[in-house]
Amino acid sequence: NGLRLDGANDADVKVSYEFFPPKTEKAEADLWAAVQRLEMLQPSYVSVTYGAGGSTQERTLATVSRMVRETSLTPAAHLTCVGATCAAVDSLADQLWEAGIRSIVALRGDPPSGFGGKYEPHPQGYPYAPELIAGLKKRHDFEIFCSAYPERHPESADWQVELDILRRKADAGASKAITQFFFEADVFFEYRDRVANAGIDIDIVPGVMLQPNIAGLSRMAGAVGVQVPNWYRRMFEGLEEDLLTRQMLTASVATDLCAELYDGGVRDFHLYTLNRADIAIAVSRALGESHARIRHRD
Ligand code: FAD
Repeated sequence: NGLRLDGANDADVKVSYEFFPPKTEKAEADLWAAVQRLEMLQPSYVSVTYGAGGSTQERTLATVSRMVRETSLTPAAHLTCVGATCAAVDSLADQLWEAGIRSIVALRGDPPSGFGGKYEPHPQGYPYAPELIAGLKKRHDFEIFCSAYPERHPESADWQVELDILRRKADAGASKAITQFFFEADVFFEYRDRVANAGIDIDIVPGVMLQPNIAGLSRMAGAVGVQVPNWYRRMFEGLEEDLLTRQMLTASVATDLCAELYDGGVRDFHLYTLNRADIAIAVSRALGESHARIRHRD
C-alpha cells in the first residue's frame, strides 16, 4: 500500500518534493525513477522548477503534464516573469491550466546574465512577483505559492524591504511561501517570528536542501546569500571521493533539522530533492515518525 507518511493516528505531517526538468535522456530516466519511488510516499504535491530560455521552459510544461497523465501526484509548476511579456506568461499559464495544473510557484526569476547581474523588468512584462501573482490569479483560479528568504534576498536592502515584498505577494493572492534553503532551525524560527510580527498572513514552509555535493552547495549558497555554518562544512571535509558517506550525512543532518522544525510546530515541509529519491525517502520516513516519537516523550 505504499510508504505512507501519515500514520493511522496522525495525518498532520505534509511533505512536498521539488524537482528540476531533465536535460538529457539519462537525466530524464533518473528523474522518472525518482518520481515513481517518491510517489509511494503520497506527497501533498510535487513541484518542477522553471529555467531561463525556451527549451528549459518547455521541459517544465512537458514534465508536469506527464506527471498529471502518468502518476497520482499533484504537480505544481514554477513560473517566472523575467524576460517575458505578459502575453507569453499568460499563454503558458493557459497551457498549464489546460494540462490540469492547478498550483503555481510564482517567481520573479534572476537576470539572464546570472547571479549578480542587475534585474530589469521586461517593458511589456509583469515587473515583479506580486504583479505576476495578481496576473495569474486573474487569469485562472490557481493556488499560488511564492518564495521567502529567511536570510533575506541578496537584493533586499533591509528587513523592511524584504517583508514588504512578502506582504505584497500575500496580498496579491499567494497562500504559501516556500523558503530558500537554510541550515539552522533558528534561522527559520526567527524569520517566521518576523513575518508574524509584521502581521503578514501567509503560511511559511521551510525548504530543506538535500544536496550531498558540498562544493556545489557552497557555490549555490554563496550566490544566493545563504550562510553555510562551519560545522556543516567541517562535517563534509575530506569526503570528496566518498559519495555514499556524504549522502548519509546529508540525510542525517536534514532529518535533525526537520525534527527541530517539527518540535517548533512545523507540519509542512518542502524537500529540494535534486531529482534523487534516496535521501528524500530517508528524511520523509524519519519525519513521518516524528509525531510518534514526540507522543512517546510526552
Ligand atoms: P521577490 O521575492 O519578489 O523579489 C526579490 C527581490 O527583488 C526583492 O528582495 C527586492 O530586492 C527586489 N524587488 C521586488 N519587488 C521590487 C520592486 N517593486 N521594486 C524594486 N525591487 C523589487 N528561479 C528560477 O529561475 N526558476 C525557479 O523555478 C525558481 N524556483 C524557486 C523556488 C523557491 C522556493 C525559491 C526560494 C527561489 C526560486 N527561484 C527560482 C529563484 C528566484 O527566481 C530568485 O531568488 C529571484 O532572484 C527572486 O525571485 P522572487 O520571486 O523570489 O522575487
